[in-house]
This record gives sequence, C-alpha cells and structure tokens, in this order.
Amino acid sequence: MQYPSFSRQRHLEDRHPMSGMTVFTDLDDTLFQTEGKALERASAAPVAGMPALSPAAQGRDGAVLSYHAPDQLVLLQLLRDCTLIPVTGRNRGALDRVTSPMFRDYRITSHGAIIYGPDDRVLPDWQERVCSAAERFGTELHAIADRIQTRVSALELPLRSRVIEDAGLPVYVSLKGEGLDHGLADRLLREAGGATSPEGPWTIHHNGHNAAFLPPYASKADAVAFVMGLKRVEDPAAVFLGIGDSLSDIAFLKQCDFALVPRATQIQEACWQ
Ligand SMILES: [Mg+2]
Repeated sequence: MQYPSFSRQRHLEDRHPMSGMTVFTDLDDTLFQTEGKALERASAAPVAGMPALSPAAQGRDGAVLSYHAPDQLVLLQLLRDCTLIPVTGRNRGALDRVTSPMFRDYRITSHGAIIYGPDDRVLPDWQERVCSAAERFGTELHAIADRIQTRVSALELPLRSRVIEDAGLPVYVSLKGEGLDHGLADRLLREAGGATSPEGPWTIHHNGHNAAFLPPYASKADAVAFVMGLKRVEDPAAVFLGIGDSLSDIAFLKQCDFALVPRATQIQEACWQ
C-alpha cells in the first residue's frame, strides 16, 4: 500500500485545515469547583510543577469563588485547539464571572434555557422559542418559588427559593441553603405543584446544598442538539465531545460522539463506583 508523501499530506491539510473538535462542556464541578472541593481534588491528583489551585470564577464582589485543580488545567491544555461551548446551569451574569476558560463561540446557559451566539446575543430562533415558553411558564415559576418559600419558612428551614432570570426571562426556580437534600427538594417541588406540565416533565438538578427546578424548556440536551445542528451546517464532518459531571448532564453527553466524565462525580458514582 502506498502512503501519501509528507508534502501530499500537507496539501490535503491545506485544503481541509485540521480543526479541533467542538466541545460541549459543563462548568461547575467539571472544569472547576469551590475552594474546598478544589483542594480535595488537587490533593487526590497533584500534578508536579503546577499550582494546587488556579482561579476560575469570581463572585459578584470580584472575590475568587471557584478554582481549577491541576488535572483540570491539564485537560484544558489538551483542549486548547478545540471550540469550547459551555453548557451550564449558570445564567449569563454568572457565566460572565468565569475567568477561565474564555468562551468565544456559542454559550448555553441556565440549564439549556438560553443560547447565546458568538455575537453575544440570544440566538434569534431560540429566543422565539424561549420567549413563548417563558410567557406560558412565567407565572407558574413565580407561584412555585413563592409556595416553596412559604413552606420552608413554615418548617423553619434555612432555605431560600427564588426565580432565576436570564436574558430578562424567567428560566428556573433555585432553592439553596444548608440542610437541603435531594429527598427534601423533590418533596418541596411536588408539594408546590411543579412536578408535571402538559408540555413535559419538570426536572430537578441537585448539586450539594442547591437544587434547580427546571421547566421543560430548560433542557441542556435540547440546546446542545440545536447548536449541533448549526455546527453541522458549518462543517458536516464536525465531531463533538461532551464533558459533564451530573446525572442531569447525561442526556446531552449521550448526543455527543464522545463523552468525558471527571472522577468522583455523580455520574461516576452512579455508573461505576
Ligand atoms: Mg456540574
């Protein structure tokens, strides 16, 4: 068998420049985490010659709240030629407080409720869909948040329930506070009447002392499928890698050609620990 010469290979690459993969990646607890969790990760997987913690995201006051552990920096180095697209529960304001990595392409925020284009604006086609959904669900989101707050106050639980907005639209209900566990979050949502809807099921994303109650239009999988369609128009041979840690990330990871899951995460614990 004849192999193409080096110059022939270069010629092919000039015609079809090698481009990195498109990477759909969750952020919190995937590429970075809070200081305590980052220190745990760093001590479990130190990398010689690298700092234990590197700043990754700030709070509203500019203080660093999230850090990369060394193994996460090594991963980002590996992905440096790829197009990174965040697929995050953060709304746009919280995403803008992420200082590493930087995102220049599409951005999927609020658990998939909103998609921003490379021009920084909500994608027009997506905006139409989400505006109409937010119109149908807006009142219910606020009612559920209020009912949950009334209930946790009656139970004297140190929890706070509120509606999160993105792009000026209500996108999900957040419940936060010490002592919040999965069972309690499930029960509170059911009691508040937010478990079902004619347009599809509500879902709950759990993470430590936080829960997000997601209406059917907040779907990471739907948003990733939409952006994949756009990417395939740009490049029919596009290859997709998904990265995520939570059970709620599985649906979008399954749509990618490859999936990568960090160690000691919800998915790993559920699947092979
Ligand atoms: Mg995560």
